[in-house]
Amino acid sequence: MMSLNVEKIRAEFPVLHQEVNGKPLVYFDNAATTQKPKSVIDALGNYYKLDNSNIHRGAHTLADRATRYFEDTRTALKAFINAKEDSEIIFTKGTTESINLVASTFGRKFLKQGDEILISTMEHHANIVPWQMLCEESGAVLKVIPIDESGEIIFEEFEKLLSEKTKILAIVHASNALGTINPVKEMIQAAKKQGAKVLLDGAQSTSHLHIDVQELDCDFLCFSAHKLFGPTGLGVLYGKRELLEVMPPYQGGGEMIKEVSFDKTTYNEIPFKFEAGTPNIADVIAFKKAIEFINTLGKDAIKQHEDALLDYAVNALSEIKGFIPVGTARDKVSVVSFNINGMHPFDVGVMLDANGIAVRTGHHCTQPLMQRFGLEGTVRASFSVYNTQTEIDQMVSSVIKIAKIKNK
Ligand code: PMP
Repeated sequence: MMSLNVEKIRAEFPVLHQEVNGKPLVYFDNAATTQKPKSVIDALGNYYKLDNSNIHRGAHTLADRATRYFEDTRTALKAFINAKEDSEIIFTKGTTESINLVASTFGRKFLKQGDEILISTMEHHANIVPWQMLCEESGAVLKVIPIDESGEIIFEEFEKLLSEKTKILAIVHASNALGTINPVKEMIQAAKKQGAKVLLDGAQSTSHLHIDVQELDCDFLCFSAHKLFGPTGLGVLYGKRELLEVMPPYQGGGEMIKEVSFDKTTYNEIPFKFEAGTPNIADVIAFKKAIEFINTLGKDAIKQHEDALLDYAVNALSEIKGFIPVGTARDKVSVVSFNINGMHPFDVGVMLDANGIAVRTGHHCTQPLMQRFGLEGTVRASFSVYNTQTEIDQMVSSVIKIAKIKNK
């Protein structure tokens, strides 16, 4: 496999070329959001400079052009996750809205008292709270799959929790807090045997792993453009046609209707049934450039680069006295979560920032997961395609100094 030309890649990302607190920026907060290549930034500007227009109903050239570019992104996304058709791709505000959409349309229509929804201990709040809200309303029951000390799903416990009462399995593909990659293929197969529908939270997996929704056979996949080098405020809901068709609309308004009268309204075809109002046109158009950026590098090369960084970082950090890893699963995306003995994660984060190193600290929107480990939070360094071993060396030498404060 070709290794990546990281210097060339870095040149595409203007934000990386700056100093923070007098030090070259080391951006290790990629699980929170990735940086944007010039092609994405330029596409945003070009849309407003050249094509700005509302889509889908204009008779004029600009509207036509904007509509075509907008729909081109849908087609690119269809190929990106191997959906069967463009209309299975719905644009939302992000993973959070995609999950809420499924919970409040599919969930409200099909779940009743006593049904069960299965999630795991390592879910992001976005894949917990919408289901809790649905349970409150419908009388369904939320069940939680336990994890072991390494941060892996305990598969036998998962199988024990599955029954014909399980109507939805909603599971994170890769954990934002630990990096664990869950065995989703096997989990989907097991859930399907009980007739459950499966929603995958792909917020952290779509940028690192090959995703083929037909091969996985998931019913829904949710992800956010901003974690894939694309703009903020934009997400995707993939759903199987037969499910999207029987789900009621999420919001009412323009675009999502076929005909409106005061007596009766009929709804549009999918995907438009779920895209009420003027969508996030500029960001959708620019997102295509992010997909092209990933496709050009290739997911295998990206994963290989990130895996090498992860191994390198874990090996070096593990040598440090006081370093406590959190989440040591065998199969991980490029996330290192850790604590320093005797120190608050936030203090570690602030000290790293003083050296120009951007990491995330806290509960990472996974409070139940932190409770499972008896922690308030962790320090999280997450790597992307533009990161280098030299940057990891910089972080490691900073962590050595920080750890010495309490670990002589
Ligand atoms: N799930 C996971 C695993 C995430 O990492 C995130 C973002 N941190 C979300 C859901 C929510 O994504 P967004 O805030 O983009 O809607």
